[in-house]
Amino acid sequence: MVSRVNPGLRREIAKLGTDELGNSEFNAEACFNCGTCTALCPLGYQILPRKLFHEVRLGLEDKIRASIPQIFSCLLCRMCEENCPQGVKITENMRILRHMINRQEFGLK
Ligand code: SF4
Ligand code: SF4
Repeated sequence: MVSRVNPGLRREIAKLGTDELGNSEFNAEACFNCGTCTALCPLGYQILPRKLFHEVRLGLEDKIRASIPQIFSCLLCRMCEENCPQGVKITENMRILRHMINRQEFGLK
């Protein structure tokens, strides 16, 4: 399957996670793919955060959509986040991705 590339995806997602002061909570680009989160996830989501954040950086929307069940069943338990050496806000990033999917796929605000 050929994936569509949306070069503005990172910017669009960051906008959804921006507060009234203009600060964006979305910091997926800080991920350096170390794999620590992979080792700790109680659901065994082997590569979910780092895979998703990589796809966001590359603008691969179709690939992100293919992970919708996992994105919505993540427990937001923060096991991954609390051990991330880069301070990636994994659960907040996940919430923002859910927000984007709810708007695009399900027409929710
Ligand atoms: S632990 Fe942090 S830096 Fe490492 S792969 Fe996961 S999100 Fe990326
Ligand atoms: S927040 Fe989600 S991805 Fe991270 S360890 Fe928990 S279930 Fe896994």
